[in-house]
Amino acid sequence: MSPRTRRELRKYLIDKLGGKCSRCPETEYLQMDCIKPVGPAHHRMFSDRRYMFYLSQLQAGNLQLLCLPCHTNKTREDVHAKRGFRVRYASECHVKQSAKNT
Ligand SMILES: [Zn+2]
Repeated sequence: MSPRTRRELRKYLIDKLGGKCSRCPETEYLQMDCIKPVGPAHHRMFSDRRYMFYLSQLQAGNLQLLCLPCHTNKTREDVHAKRGFRVRYASECHVKQSAKNT
């Protein structure tokens, strides 16, 4: 069975990617991330097209799940890397800080 609706597609992608953030144990607030940055163009796509894009990235082996704080960190690292800075990973675990009181 191939996923048809956007919700199915999202669930399908999350299942395929292991259902958790690839950097920490977070299993909620997950977002798709292209391991090798491919530019921001897909962020302006409508949702359906964006998920088709993510599907193609999955098939190319260039997709991972990141929770919101990890995704923010990675985006920052990508920007720094582009400028030629050495990237140092945050040693502190953000999970403790991320509010779970919603
Ligand atoms: Zn995370």
